[in-house]
Amino acid sequence: MVKLAGKAVADKIYSAVDNTVEQLRLQDIIPCLAIVMVGHDPASMLYVAAKEKATAQHGIKSLVVRLSADCSMSELLATIEALNNDDDVHGLLCQAPLPVHLSFTQVIKAIAPHKDVDGFHPLNVGCLAWGVPALLPCTPQGVLALLQHYEIPLAGKNVLIIGRSMIVGTPLSVLLSRSGVDATVTLAHSKSTNLAGLCARADVIISAVGQPEIIKAAWLASHTVVIDVGTNPIPDITKASGVRFVGDLDPAAHTVCAAYSPVPGGVGLLTVAFLLKNTCDAALRIYQ
Ligand code: NDP
Repeated sequence: MVKLAGKAVADKIYSAVDNTVEQLRLQDIIPCLAIVMVGHDPASMLYVAAKEKATAQHGIKSLVVRLSADCSMSELLATIEALNNDDDVHGLLCQAPLPVHLSFTQVIKAIAPHKDVDGFHPLNVGCLAWGVPALLPCTPQGVLALLQHYEIPLAGKNVLIIGRSMIVGTPLSVLLSRSGVDATVTLAHSKSTNLAGLCARADVIISAVGQPEIIKAAWLASHTVVIDVGTNPIPDITKASGVRFVGDLDPAAHTVCAAYSPVPGGVGLLTVAFLLKNTCDAALRIYQ
């Protein structure tokens, strides 16, 4: 079985990012990513720190706007509006999840589509469906890049995506079934029956459920390729943080399937890389 590591693919994306940053620098433009963070969710704080570190490493400015967990919807929307109108900000995202009294959907709709580097705005989702150039969601781009880098055939193949969130599964199903990629996509979710049978007939399985070991070794054939998007914290006293991350795939499957992406070290590396690429693309589009 082949391990589909994300590092080599991420390095290619970062090399394109570095070129664009240099191209912008020659025009005295420093791309800037603004991140709105509400409250102190521990996982979100880690994700935001990782995004800040990656931007700094690649010459992109980051601006993290922190709001208290009890901020109002109007305060949050006013913050988004101010960043929409700030010409020095090229990319803008709001870190999920939000406290329950706030609407993530309303926030997404308020972000200027040309700054929406998460690719969640309905206009960008519509462009994805139409195949019109737009800012596309980062994790689906990462999954496609990983599959293409390792030359996994997709045209005409049965691709099973498990999980239908608007962050991963739903946009990925559109991306992979578009003309040019041409996969035959099945999108499974919590109401799907016979997950074992769906897995058994898939050539490629992409799991974005968020449950450790939900994909069993016994469900896979020797030709199956598994892309594991799941990033699930489990207790680990040997780690300073007290947790480590595992995917959705049963580790016993590693010796059964043809190829799999590891967690960590797989798709996760590509999500941040594509966020930086989207930020550069957004800056380029503003000035071109
Ligand atoms: P969501 O919770 O939004 O979605 C989970 C999906 O899994 C839902 O569509 C749900 O179905 C489906 N599901 C739940 N249980 C089952 C089941 N038993 N059988 C089949 N489908 C099921 O999660 P996200 O999409 O935000 O994230 C999914 C995972 O991916 C998480 O572990 C997350 O941490 C990780 N992730 C990793 C990223 C990376 O960069 N590596 C980026 C984003 C996410 P239903 O719709 O019916 O509820």
